[in-house]
This record gives sequence, C-alpha cells and structure tokens, in this order.
Amino acid sequence: MGCRIVLLGMPGAGKGTQAEQLAQALGVPHVASGDLFREHLDKGTELGRQARAYMERGDLVPDEVTIGMVAERIARPDCANGFILDGFPRTVAQAEALERLLKGNGTALDVVAFIRVREEVALARLAGRWTCRNCGAVYHTLFNPPRQAGVCDACGGELYQRPDETEEAHRRRLQVYQQQTAPLVDYYRRAGLLVEIDGEQSIEDVQADLRAVVESACGSLTAESAERL
Ligand code: ADP
Ligand code: AMP
Repeated sequence: MGCRIVLLGMPGAGKGTQAEQLAQALGVPHVASGDLFREHLDKGTELGRQARAYMERGDLVPDEVTIGMVAERIARPDCANGFILDGFPRTVAQAEALERLLKGNGTALDVVAFIRVREEVALARLAGRWTCRNCGAVYHTLFNPPRQAGVCDACGGELYQRPDETEEAHRRRLQVYQQQTAPLVDYYRRAGLLVEIDGEQSIEDVQADLRAVVESACGSLTAESAERL
C-alpha cells in the first residue's frame, strides 16, 4: 500500500513508538530524522560532527543540513511506495522543502497525523525513556518497560539513555517545539492534511486511532499488511 505519512507532535508525544508499529503493519520505512542524525554521530561523519552540539543542547540542527539528509533518505528505492516521517519536518522551511521534493517526483503527502499531548505528559515520558543501542526500539521505565531491565525485548541489545535526555535539554526541546514546530499544525491544517489524535491514551489505543486515520487517507490496509497487525 502506498502511503506518505508525517507524524507530528512534541518530543515525547510517542511518534517513534507509533511509527515503528505502523511501519511494520504497512511495510513502509520508518524515517526518523533524529535516528538518521544519531547514525551519523555513531559513524563519526562530518554531518554528525556538525549536528552534535545542536542535538546535545536540544536545539534544531540547521535546515540546510537536515533537509539534505532527509531528502537523500526518502529518495532511496525503499521509500518509493511510501514512508512514515517522524521528527521531520520540524520547521515551516522544512515542510516547504518536503512539498517541493515530493512534487518534483509527482507525489505528495497523504496525511499528517498530529499526536497531541500536554507538556507535562511529554516531560514525564521523556524522563523515563530508554532506547536500544542496537535497533532503536524505545521503552519507558514505567509505561512500557522491557521484560528484562536494560535489555531490548526485540533484539536483546543494550538499552541506554540518550545524551540529550537531561531535564535541561528536555525543557529546551519543548520550548523549541513551541517556537519552531507548533506552527506546522496550522500549516498542515490549512493544507487539509492534518488529523488530530489523542496521544494521552495507551500505546495500543493511539495505534488503533492512527491506523484508522491511515486507512481513511490511504485506503484500506491490504490483506497482507492487515495480517501483520
Ligand atoms: P517521540 O518519538 O515523540 O519523542 P517516543 O515514541 O520516543 O516519543 O516516546 C517517548 C516515551 O514515552 C518513550 O519512553 C515511550 O516508551 C513512552 N510512550 C510512548 N507512547 C506512550 C503512551 N501512549 N503512553 C505512555 N508512554 C508512552
Ligand atoms: P528526535 O530523535 O526526533 O528527538 O531528535 C533528536 C535531535 O535531533 C533534535 O533535538 C534535534 O537536535 C535533531 N533533529 C531531529 N530532527 C530534526 C529536524 N527535522 N530538524 C532539525 N533538527 C532535528
């Protein structure tokens, strides 16, 4: 099923958690700009070197770096039939660049799912977040604990807390979200693409709402992808 989806929401809203499950169900890649940056950091690339200080502070990496990196990723063949963007776009300039890029190859976004949570909920979620160093799966000490502490259920990898998981960086990231990313809610509403989802429900209930939104935007899930649900 071809479907081009953007997940919008503040840090901690649950975008990564939801995107991972949805990507498996739809059979399209989960493209998370934060994960792409972290891969560059791990590999010690020039791009990673440029991004590091911004990420550690909780600031946005400049648009020209970010847009090029994501453009390269969604131009790969595995995205030809669709993708789930998580964490991108985060500025109006990024949203405009994405639109141009898709237009250039005769496609467009199908839907923007805005996962809405209050700031205090996002902060509580960020405070307990643990990430798998190997496969990137995300857990929470209270809300979504792994079966064995410190070990990824999915791949057995080691769980760690990201270097930007400090209270100071969390507050900064939420401030940056309000200033630079929140305007995208209106931007996509005006474009007729925005659908709002209550992100304060359980992970399963958010996923069910998200799937209903995707079905209505992209057509029903194929038998094959429905089996994977
Ligand atoms: P984002 O990608 O939007 O920053 P994540 O998917 O990383 O958010 O989720 C942030 C934290 O909140 C993680 O620790 C995750 O396990 C937890 N979480 C995600 N969705 C929910 C939910 N619906 N209820 C409770 N905790 C959640
Ligand atoms: P995330 O994993 O989405 O929480 O992103 C982690 C960090 O990567 C952010 O705090 C930013 O520093 C950087 N980043 C991720 N996506 C973007 C983006 N679209 N634009 C600018 N910076 C980004």
